[in-house]
Amino acid sequence: MARARAYRHDVRCPDCGSNRMAKAGHSKDRQRFKCGDCGRS
Ligand SMILES: [Zn+2]
Repeated sequence: MARARAYRHDVRCPDCGSNRMAKAGHSKDRQRFKCGDCGRS
């Protein structure tokens, strides 16, 4: 219950390496994520 559902822990930010990736919609058939640390998508 304490987990943030918005974050996916199976995806890592290629820029800062954080695994706090939030869903940021999807393009075509690929899911896009936005980094919760550096804000990159
Ligand atoms: Zn990042």
